[in-house]
Amino acid sequence: MSMTSLQLNAGPSPWGSPYWKKLPTEELARYDPQAPKEKYFIDNLELLVDDMETARCKGSLKLPDSPDLVKVVVKTDFFAKALRTSAYVHEADMYELHLSSLQGLSIPYCYGLFQHKDKDDKVSSFLVLEDCGDLIDDVSSLPNSFKLKALDALYEIHCAGYIHGDLSLNNITIKDGQPFFIDLETAEPHKCEMKERIVVGEERRNIECDEIDLCCMMLEIWADSKVKVEGLLVFQRAQCAPSEREHRFLTLSSRPS
Ligand SMILES: [Zn+2]
Repeated sequence: MSMTSLQLNAGPSPWGSPYWKKLPTEELARYDPQAPKEKYFIDNLELLVDDMETARCKGSLKLPDSPDLVKVVVKTDFFAKALRTSAYVHEADMYELHLSSLQGLSIPYCYGLFQHKDKDDKVSSFLVLEDCGDLIDDVSSLPNSFKLKALDALYEIHCAGYIHGDLSLNNITIKDGQPFFIDLETAEPHKCEMKERIVVGEERRNIECDEIDLCCMMLEIWADSKVKVEGLLVFQRAQCAPSEREHRFLTLSSRPS
């Protein structure tokens, strides 16, 4: 072996997808040529969603240096008609380069982008990410504290100099009560101008950042979007200081009545 590689071992497809059998069985090369020479395995890969553009699978990743298995999601364009190699490279760079310090905090930990070249030299992508739980299915049942944690997580991405770029409820997951933003294919550079603090249940107003405003609407943080008021919680803006990002700068406090 002269490179980092990944081997997929497909479990039974729950939906009996006819494409499933075509998954590559040879070793896939890791996109980052600087990566140490290691061999990863994913066992029991199961198809979750196949919308013809992106298939998502879940499986158990065996890392070279640990006996433990890690639950991962594998996102791939392998079954898609149009391959999106550069979008996957961009997304992998977001996780591993631009937002690397937020992995496991606001975004999933990335175990690497692996590529498969077919006989016509077409490259399909397999992005291996920490399994960050489930999508939100009912915003109105979310506690206010979670909504503010999600704002905090998004704000950290902004403070690191990027917007998500394609924000929707399909791109936020919950794992153990913590929010994660996924799908960074369209993340773009951004200088956040937000200088406000946001209270769950307040009237919508100009906060100088379109994406955080959108997030406040999506999560029904603004008053006109059916806010459940259960003791108001405050999103307290702290200094936007990427170098000190280890500090989680969300302060939750009950508003004095
Ligand atoms: Zn912003």
